[in-house]
Amino acid sequence: MNVLVTGGAGYIGSHIVKMLLEDNNHVITLDNLSKGHREAVVGGEFIKGDLNNIQELKNIIQTKKIEGVIHLAADSLVGESMQNPEKYYRNNVCNGLNLLAAMQDCGVDKLVFSSTAAVYGEPEKVPIAEDHPTRPTNTYGDSKLFFEKIMHRYHQIHGLKYVSLRYFNAAGADLSGKIGEAHNPETHLIPIVLQKALGQRDNLAIFGDDYATADGSCVRDYIHVSDLASAHGLALKALQQGKEKAIYNLGNGEGYSVKEVIETAREVTGLPIEAKIADRRAGDPAVLIASSVKIKEELHWEPKYPELEKIISSAWQWHRKGGFSENG
Ligand code: UDP
Repeated sequence: MNVLVTGGAGYIGSHIVKMLLEDNNHVITLDNLSKGHREAVVGGEFIKGDLNNIQELKNIIQTKKIEGVIHLAADSLVGESMQNPEKYYRNNVCNGLNLLAAMQDCGVDKLVFSSTAAVYGEPEKVPIAEDHPTRPTNTYGDSKLFFEKIMHRYHQIHGLKYVSLRYFNAAGADLSGKIGEAHNPETHLIPIVLQKALGQRDNLAIFGDDYATADGSCVRDYIHVSDLASAHGLALKALQQGKEKAIYNLGNGEGYSVKEVIETAREVTGLPIEAKIADRRAGDPAVLIASSVKIKEELHWEPKYPELEKIISSAWQWHRKGGFSENG
């Protein structure tokens, strides 16, 4: 299949591109490299470009004979989304509309969308199933939920076929060691913990230890990025086989506290990794755990690396080698 991956040079996108290539697809990556890395795209064709240009999108879809799209290009920092909401509505909603317009004009009707657990906001109960109420507590979550609503209407009105995948906490790195997480600045827990282990940062803060959890720190559901990638492949195949629309959560159904993550990283690295308790980070729900029963049942998705230890050790292998600077 000829697949367009927007945002394919990013952390999750690059793992999806690699998986699609291994599955014998022809992959065209479109990324403006605002946050992605050219060297993260391990094969297929690469186009540096932006979703703000409908004509360029149409040209790509037509000339490359695109049959399906995986759309990840977006801004994804919760904190930034509350300081600069316009950026999030513009990039995540308006640019997404450009993509839909170009697809529609070119007769492409299959879309897999990168969504987030942030659409749920503060959960009423865990594990969170797809029918849990959606009440985002930040602009990032809003922007992803808006786009889900748009896809739903385009399905009704224009016949768009889509799968929206609501990610919980993506972590880890491809076992080849060639690609991994490389944000700048880094805000995510596991890479920060490993940077501290490597002496690349002075401080590691545990954001709050007074939550109503077993050890007082926040609990999250970490999912290996390669398991996320495989779900995108299954979603695309389901659309090819006639699926009309679906929304799925992606997590392991298992929660780990910030303190447990740090402790596991100590075991994996054999290093002390000193951490200090700090204030809560605004907008953090205490516990986020996915129910991924639906995607397991309907698409037969099975995570290969559900263990936190494996997730962290794969990330450690990547960070220890120096990320893209040495793996190039
Ligand atoms: N966290 C932390 N210290 C850090 C970064 C994150 O204690 O330096 C916590 C954060 O408050 C959350 C969890 O780790 O409870 C996961 O945060 P991350 O930013 O990785 O993902 P999020 O859950 O926000 O998507």
